[in-house]
Amino acid sequence: MMKHALSGVGMTSRRTRARMIDRLRDQGIRSEAVLSAMSAIPRHIFVDEALASRAYEDTALPLGFAQTISQPYIVARMIEVLLGSRASLGKTLEVGTGCGYQAAVLGTLTPSVYSVERIAPLLTKARQHLRQIPELLVRLKHADGGIGLPEAAPFDSIIVAAAARQVPPELLQQLASGGHLVLPIGGREQYLCHVEKTPEGFSETRLEMVRFVPLVAGIE
Ligand code: SAH
Repeated sequence: MMKHALSGVGMTSRRTRARMIDRLRDQGIRSEAVLSAMSAIPRHIFVDEALASRAYEDTALPLGFAQTISQPYIVARMIEVLLGSRASLGKTLEVGTGCGYQAAVLGTLTPSVYSVERIAPLLTKARQHLRQIPELLVRLKHADGGIGLPEAAPFDSIIVAAAARQVPPELLQQLASGGHLVLPIGGREQYLCHVEKTPEGFSETRLEMVRFVPLVAGIE
């Protein structure tokens, strides 16, 4: 790929990305670690070329296969909640790789990211996107993340990019002590749910309303 494709020009330039970061600050994102990770990752390489000029708008964009890449604010918000007051995300599982954008942001924050996707062709695309940022090490797997990733558990952080009806018990089981889980819960009406595994058990906090594609069982 030509060098300018990664750094971006015009609507995909570094300046456009800086505006996205300013907007995230205005929207209330406070974590400098998250803001700097999002400013490090060129979002336009994760969306179809026809949509690249819209990559830094605060909007969800179609990925194909009826799936969407989350709007930047939601990515930032979820990772900010996931990190909390910890210095690092530690070993992290993402359920729902999609185009790989959020996996790349996570990979900027921690050297240990596992991301699983149930739709094989999406995973292939995500691999192509992530290959353009070779310094990132993100382990991708074609799997049903609704049952977590037992072979790599326990995780210090788990983030889910698709809405479940209730918190999948497997994900709770695969959370390390002191670990955090952030996921959308619901059907038509969804809210962001933050679960922390404390020595006393699980503490659950309900955050803002959101809109995600559903978590679907099985792989295709
Ligand atoms: N984080 C992604 C957003 C993807 S949208 C990004 O940055 O682009 C949610 C993704 O979750 C979709 O790709 C969908 O196929 C996937 N998904 C839904 N149910 C799943 C499951 N049980 N296991 C793994 N992936 C799942």
